[in-house]
Amino acid sequence: MRIGTPLSATATRALLLGAGELGKEVAIELQRLGVETIAADRYPNAPAMQVAHRAHVLDMRDRAALRHVVQAEKPHLVIPEIEAIATDELLALEEDGWRVVPTARAAALTMNREGIRRLAAENLAVATSPYRFAGSEAEYHAAVAEIGLPCVVKPVMSSSGKGQSTVRARADVAAAWTHARQGARGGADKVIVEGFVDFDYEITLLTVRHSHGVTFCEPIGHRQERGDYRESWQPQPMSPAALAECRRVAGLVVDELGGWGLFGVEFFVKENARDDQAQVWFSEASPRPHDTGLVTLASQDQSEFALHVRAVLGLPVPAVRHLGPAASAVITAQGDSDHVAFDNLPRALATPGTQLRLFGKPDVRGERRMGVALAMGADVADARAKAASVAAAVAVDV
Ligand code: AMP
Repeated sequence: MRIGTPLSATATRALLLGAGELGKEVAIELQRLGVETIAADRYPNAPAMQVAHRAHVLDMRDRAALRHVVQAEKPHLVIPEIEAIATDELLALEEDGWRVVPTARAAALTMNREGIRRLAAENLAVATSPYRFAGSEAEYHAAVAEIGLPCVVKPVMSSSGKGQSTVRARADVAAAWTHARQGARGGADKVIVEGFVDFDYEITLLTVRHSHGVTFCEPIGHRQERGDYRESWQPQPMSPAALAECRRVAGLVVDELGGWGLFGVEFFVKENARDDQAQVWFSEASPRPHDTGLVTLASQDQSEFALHVRAVLGLPVPAVRHLGPAASAVITAQGDSDHVAFDNLPRALATPGTQLRLFGKPDVRGERRMGVALAMGADVADARAKAASVAAAVAVDV
């Protein structure tokens, strides 16, 4: 792989499809290697646009608009950073010779829960929660009856917990259907009904598929609220058997998805499930950096964003150095504003080993993730407490 000079005839160009906080860190890593960086999203001044060479505002679910920006920019790499993209067009663009990261098929299979779930459970025979898909209310009721209560209901296309609910009682079954239909992205009308997994903890196993093989980061534990990540930490303590099984499954999944890049592979783990044996359930995979992996901005010599860029450029990842126990805690804003500001920062960052990232999002409508607090600690508990107190100390003025 050869890298040219940005804004010159030799430039190596990368088009980021999605310019949020994860895309922003990817853009910064591309810039560090002298890659000409173009950011696209549906609104102007999105975080990654603020650090890119150029920006385009478009609806990435619109096939013609997507093709138009690729033809205009002629990127050497098309890097999807969100799920809401016309993946049919990514497949067509790849057919035409454009390079989609890690592959157009990986983007297509993971943008819909049905694609990745059937691939893992049915093609790769990987253990997952029991599940059914339903496209109508009648199918939904049949699915809930088969899976039983409690169960988790999610639109097949959604993220950040939108439209997701846990159904514990018969009285809540109907409301979960309505909620899932309202939270679905892009008019997808199917839902997945999953058996509720009584796990001890859940992890994201960042897995890098690069030109010299597959490299795993230390497991990241995380806590979700209403399907959205609130804090993450690394390393999550795990038995050797559980970790080995997660690595085995992650390896199978990323090899099946193919291409080069960093993947976030999510698992539920129960350490003493039966006969003192650990049990591991694959949940889902993202063929790109994962929000819970923001912790790696503090915890590793190369963050998940640096690793993604390195892998997609065809460069090897001989080793990833974990620097010690670390945690992240999200900072959200609530309200209706286009002039958000952050106060009390000197006090928030007074503790050694703490850091802050503010994403620079131009507005908030409802609740929105605006930043993340990072901390290193003596152990995971210490790092979590420090990150949480930094996040709590930041005063968000809407
Ligand atoms: P997802 O969007 O599928 O990652 O779900 C968001 C979060 O909801 C997960 O990280 C879990 O904390 C929880 N969750 C999702 N599916 C299940 C399940 N089948 N059993 C228990 N918890 C779940």
